[in-house]
Amino acid sequence: MEKELCQICHHRIAEHKFVRVINGVETPYRVCSHCKALMDNKYKELKAKAALRQTPMEERVCPFCGSRLKDFMATGLLGCDHCYRVFEEYLLEYVRGYHGAVQHVGMDASPPPPIDVESLYRELKEAVDSKNYEKAAEIKKRIDANWEGD
Ligand SMILES: [Zn+2]
Ligand SMILES: [Zn+2]
Repeated sequence: MEKELCQICHHRIAEHKFVRVINGVETPYRVCSHCKALMDNKYKELKAKAALRQTPMEERVCPFCGSRLKDFMATGLLGCDHCYRVFEEYLLEYVRGYHGAVQHVGMDASPPPPIDVESLYRELKEAVDSKNYEKAAEIKKRIDANWEGD
């Protein structure tokens, strides 16, 4: 069988071939294990996010540490890495409010390489914990860029 390269990283051999339905359109994928794992993570994230959007911000509870939004508002600190996903929209507004408009990437910006979203969220937590909101906004932008294209 002919060896094909992964269509995402164009670097490793595509070991996984599958079809994913995106917006009602069947999209074939040929990807390596590394990119497949990233895609699966992202897919799970998006599903969890969609479920979360149904819940009002004030009623959300971080499933990992039990933090609520009021805890963050009281202390300015989040309980754990996962809190960022639970309260993401609020935090984005928080970062925006502090630092003005979040900058947009120019049209000619090259697409970002596959990013380990987990580590970005960890960086985001560190940035907010150390009240470095400028850095937090920058990291948030990178996370958003990584969500695009789905
Ligand atoms: Zn790949
Ligand atoms: Zn948490």
